[in-house]
Amino acid sequence: MNPCNSLELPASLERLEALATPKGAARLLRWACERFSPRIILTSSFQTQSLPLLHLVSRLCPQLPVLFIDTGFHFEETLAFRDRVAAALGLNLVVVRPAMEHRQFIARYGEDVPYRDPDLCCRLNKVEPMQRALVGVEAWIAGVRRDQTSYRRHLRVVACHAGSVVRIHPMLNWTAAEVEAYRRRYALPAHPLYALGYRSIGCKPCTRPSLVANPRAGRWDGRREECGLHLALEEVEEER
Ligand code: SF4
Repeated sequence: MNPCNSLELPASLERLEALATPKGAARLLRWACERFSPRIILTSSFQTQSLPLLHLVSRLCPQLPVLFIDTGFHFEETLAFRDRVAAALGLNLVVVRPAMEHRQFIARYGEDVPYRDPDLCCRLNKVEPMQRALVGVEAWIAGVRRDQTSYRRHLRVVACHAGSVVRIHPMLNWTAAEVEAYRRRYALPAHPLYALGYRSIGCKPCTRPSLVANPRAGRWDGRREECGLHLALEEVEEER
């Protein structure tokens, strides 16, 4: 059964929209875990801004698989931070890897492929591993926020991914200031590169420090906003 077609939503989409805030996120997360476990996952890139959602997961549904896509291009600091946070919060960390081993990938496509052909690089190292990880999954929680990119600005709190997986976005209406306030309130750590001006951190070749108003400007040198992972979302119709 396709979960996008058979969902009985607990409230109107407008009410779900209202839950993707610092006040409502816990309720939304609890609903998602109760409704879809064990066929539900969360993805995280383990950045400073990931901490509020990971903290909520640790308190409300610690068994939830937290997927990290290890592209082979991450900063060593990210991998160390991931392991430290996962251990401290007791997360059920699941590392997802591309089909082709990193050294083999570099030998075949060249070290400059992230600059030469980022679409190919992201597809093989991020999108395809994620597609494999979604087999058998009904719901996918992601920490995207409207204030991050122009594409994310138009997302819904509950959406349908690729026609068959329900996407849930508990952070969608949070502002950067609210994320930071939550992090400070619970004394949650920051990614070690955050203090060096890195505000949005992905793979090493495609991330620069960014102290400008748009933190995502530090990704792909401002040439792209999305890697493709969060694309292919459609709205779920109410009460279908
Ligand atoms: S973000 Fe850059 S290095 Fe990472 S998969 Fe995409 S193109 Fe490759």
